Amino acid sequence: MGDIRGFMKYERSVPARRPVPLRLMDWREVYEPSDPDELKTQASRCMDCGVPFCHDGCPLGNLIPEWNELVTKGDWRAASERLHATNNFPDFTGRLCPAPCESACVLGINRDPVTIKQVEHDIVDTAFDEGWIKPMLPAKSTGKRVAVVGSGPSGLAAAQQLTRAGHDVTVFERADRIGGLLRYGIPEFKMEKHHIDRRLAQMAAEGTRFETNVNVGVDEDGALPLEQLKERFDAVVLAVGSTTGRDLPAPGRELDGIHQAMEYLPHSNRVQEGDVAVPAIDAKGKSVVIIGGGDTGADCLGTALRQGAASVHQFEIMPRPPETRADSTPWPTYPLMYRVSSAHEEGGERVFSVNTEEFVGEDGRLTGLRYHEVESVDGKFQQVEGTNAVLDCELVLLAMGFTGPEREGLLDGLGVQYTARGNVARGAEAGEDWSGGSDWATSADGVFVAGDAGRGQSLIVWAIAEGRSCAAAVDAYLTGASDLPAPVRTTDVAMRAPAV
Ligand SMILES: Cc1cc2nc3c(=O)[nH]c(=O)nc-3n(C[C@H](O)[C@H](O)[C@H](O)COP(=O)(O)OP(=O)(O)OC[C@H]3O[C@@H](n4cnc5c(N)ncnc54)[C@H](O)[C@@H]3O)c2cc1C
Ligand code: SF4
Repeated sequence: MGDIRGFMKYERSVPARRPVPLRLMDWREVYEPSDPDELKTQASRCMDCGVPFCHDGCPLGNLIPEWNELVTKGDWRAASERLHATNNFPDFTGRLCPAPCESACVLGINRDPVTIKQVEHDIVDTAFDEGWIKPMLPAKSTGKRVAVVGSGPSGLAAAQQLTRAGHDVTVFERADRIGGLLRYGIPEFKMEKHHIDRRLAQMAAEGTRFETNVNVGVDEDGALPLEQLKERFDAVVLAVGSTTGRDLPAPGRELDGIHQAMEYLPHSNRVQEGDVAVPAIDAKGKSVVIIGGGDTGADCLGTALRQGAASVHQFEIMPRPPETRADSTPWPTYPLMYRVSSAHEEGGERVFSVNTEEFVGEDGRLTGLRYHEVESVDGKFQQVEGTNAVLDCELVLLAMGFTGPEREGLLDGLGVQYTARGNVARGAEAGEDWSGGSDWATSADGVFVAGDAGRGQSLIVWAIAEGRSCAAAVDAYLTGASDLPAPVRTTDVAMRAPAV
């Protein structure tokens, strides 16, 4: 414990966000740099609890009180080692995680919780700046070949663990760049993409191979057909994400100007990468309605505002959450409460308890959206009489979540089974055909699954935790036993944080 009275002496404080008018003019991350001395003070608020509930809040089992103490004492290098003992990519989670650890922090019972996420963020950035993060070369080679399909956080975590265990690992990605939703989806203002590139450089130096523009399971030029996948590799990790967007089949859905969030956001990422000057779907000068009040919707909001939208409304069918933790989500669970993300601070109007009836248009183009207010009666949404209205708009973005992985080609071709929720079944879920004998094995021999493809849409921290655990299962499958850590089991299904 860095300071026995720290939690009584100091109030929580986090770095300020840059002024809204300034940050709307660029795509850089929104936070001001933090002050290392202030961060030490913040870390000293940790009480080093006998039962650290923060551990339970974090799927990775991060050793939070240990690094808080090390930061308080100024031993950043040791803090980085403890941080990387449980998390391959704290640079991603330190920026993007909704921090279920902070919701579970004991100090949060009657004070503001420890700024765990900021401490994590600053430890890893300091470690990169100081050159402490080096490739960790495997001590041996097993001669076993593993294909990881999909390069999001689950695939990258699995690949790094398996490479370090001595396997010959190739990551296949159908997109032109590695990173999954970290690269194409999450906007630059939440995480600048050079953070991915420096990790990929570390992984490549360790021996992980990357092949982009390879659509696995598809038999066409440049793709990798299933026969070759099976011939070339001893085990396969499916880390293909949950990429099928939930649709809104209301009348008028076919009009031009209605897009899934994930049809819209990657174009903006490509502008930031320098591939194109203008995004193929552009909010500039348009009245925009985002349907879905979650984080993906907020990412669309921040993007549309930076593109120069004339107006943005974010519609949500659920009622506005309470200002403070709802009784239904007591400590240490992730609280249901009204949150204001950086994008919400920047503009737009949030509209709760509304339902879209139909899209209206002229000459095949969207011109508006007819909606009404709803109230919950016996757990069902009912229209509030007399609230019918039309909102003019030229662009609608659907941000209502994802229904599961795409099946055609790879998954159906491998013959994996699915859960009732439409995800790839693994472990005991895969039923009697489950042949891998481990938690993360699918019903197809030698084929494993990690991340959103098996879990359903979730969070980066879960994707990394699943990637690490899946790697341990693959290592055991290939060699008979594994020393790799396995922070979660497939039976850890409780969603301790809301889906995005
Ligand atoms: C817009 C948006 C914002 C988000 N923001 C946050 C956030 O701030 N914090 C947070 O914790 N979570 C966030 N999430 C959720 C988080 O990004 C996901 O939970 C996480 O990325 C899942 O990781 P994954 O590795 O399972 O899959 P993904 O990141 O989805 O990666 C899957 C990859 O597999 C590739 N692939 C699929 N099929 C094939 C194939 N046949 N051959 C080759 N490649 C294939 C895809 O192209 C994709 O690159 C966000 C999600 C979205 C959509
Ligand atoms: S629960 Fe909070 S105060 Fe307790 S050890 Fe974890 S971070 Fe520190």
